[in-house]
Amino acid sequence: MPAPNETNIAAPTILTTRIFAMSFVALVCISILLLHILFVWMARVKDIDDAETALSNLSQALAQHAEQSVTSADAVLLGIVQRLEVEGMDRDSLARLYPLLVSQVNELPQLQGLFIYDHMGRWMVNSLDDSPWLLNNADREYFIYHMTHMDRQAHVGMPVQSRSTGDWIIPVSRRINRIDGSFGGVALATIKVEFFVNFYAGFDIGKFGSIVLALQNGTMLVRRPLLPDSIGKSMANTNIFRDHAALHPNGMAIIKSTQDGVDRLNTYRRLEKYPLFVVAAQSYDEVLAAWRMETIIQSTGVLILIALLGWIGKRLVDQIRLRAQAQQKLLEARAKLVEMNQALKKMALEDSLTGVANRRQFDVRLKSEFSRARREQQSLALLMIDIDHFKQYNDLYGHPAGDACLQAVARLLTTQRPGDLTARYGGEEFAILLPNTSFDGALQIAEKIAGNVGGVVTVSIGVHALVPATDQRNPLALVNAADRALYLAKARGRDRVCSSSDIDTNQIDPA
Ligand code: GH3
Ligand code: MG
Ligand code: MG
Repeated sequence: MPAPNETNIAAPTILTTRIFAMSFVALVCISILLLHILFVWMARVKDIDDAETALSNLSQALAQHAEQSVTSADAVLLGIVQRLEVEGMDRDSLARLYPLLVSQVNELPQLQGLFIYDHMGRWMVNSLDDSPWLLNNADREYFIYHMTHMDRQAHVGMPVQSRSTGDWIIPVSRRINRIDGSFGGVALATIKVEFFVNFYAGFDIGKFGSIVLALQNGTMLVRRPLLPDSIGKSMANTNIFRDHAALHPNGMAIIKSTQDGVDRLNTYRRLEKYPLFVVAAQSYDEVLAAWRMETIIQSTGVLILIALLGWIGKRLVDQIRLRAQAQQKLLEARAKLVEMNQALKKMALEDSLTGVANRRQFDVRLKSEFSRARREQQSLALLMIDIDHFKQYNDLYGHPAGDACLQAVARLLTTQRPGDLTARYGGEEFAILLPNTSFDGALQIAEKIAGNVGGVVTVSIGVHALVPATDQRNPLALVNAADRALYLAKARGRDRVCSSSDIDTNQIDPA
């Protein structure tokens, strides 16, 4: 039967196809997901990179701005100090200095004022008022510094609240020497913190960005956003100062602010000429805000795409499964049909009790073999076999035993050649058709069969053989002749073989 083989082959093939389809869809989905993750990650890296570059540029610009602001104020101081050291600090020369101080302060927007103190810290002249004030700045950090240090460099001091105006100022000062080199006083330029505050306000660093200008010792001078305690506050313990700005001239760091707890991308840069550094920072969240939004939108799109692909893939696999099931059913149905066909064929051609050919098959074969014998002019022989006194056998042993006997007899009616046909002709009567068999050959076979069967029951056999005439189409003559020979065998006492040649027409009793 070919059908079961086909089902066995078909099932694994379909299974493989399904696994292949599922794997393919899964692979596509995973690839899309991985590519998406890669792109998202690359976009993030790029956004952080860009922010770093922008911040680095900003800190560079801020450092330059701070340096120029201090340098231009310091240049004024240098001029004043040189002049005072040459002209001395008498009342006249100081008075002559006053308009210069005023014009310089007007010239430089970062300057709050210019001040000259004598060796006692007394206010000698300043840009705010031409009359000497009764104030003393001997206690200020920058004054003490210059009094105790011989160096001629500009000194950027701790931020202080101006005694004259109350503004927060950054003092830049230089020492004035007497002719003998002893301490003669201090020239001071005060830079407005407000100047930097205004300048820093102009940059777009986001809502949570920050800018800091600080002394190299960690003292904060200016901060955006400016908190009430920002100015003068020590940054010594902050991460950005301790681990970064204090150690390197410039760099970048991602740090959670100790000021407000915001995670920031910080870039810092030390000024070249002054002990100052700037920090420009942007909130990490803000740096990534655009990226986050893009990622959410893109991820939604990708997830929808993957869901769609998955759905299509599932439908595909379902289709394959349904098709496989249908195919399987079809194959099974076909197998059943073939089986049924074979059973039907058997039923149509076989005798159900004995398993030999039935009467229908016998008739068909008789006709075809007769035609062939006529065409080929060969001898066709027929044996008609009838069990003797079978009615009595039945009566004696019962009908089932009679059936068994019929089966046993049928088994004994075997012949040598594959072309031969043993058939149940009807009731307890059998026929054996022997193509290409001579009369004598048929007689021999009949005798052998009669000998085989003759145990419990006996049989009578009628034999006939003929070469059909070329115009003879009806095989009935063969059957009739064999039948007559059978009757003769019965008439002569049963358990014997008679042939048509034994028939003496006069002796035959047709009854
Ligand atoms: P004879 O020697 O003249 O042939 O006598 P006989 O009894 O064999 O012949 P008869 O025609 O009188 O009886 C045939 C019997 O065969 C009658 C019937 O009960 C029996 N028979 C026919 N077909 C079957 C069958 O399929 N099974 C059984 N058990 N008996 C059958
Ligand atoms: Mg009979
Ligand atoms: Mg009989």
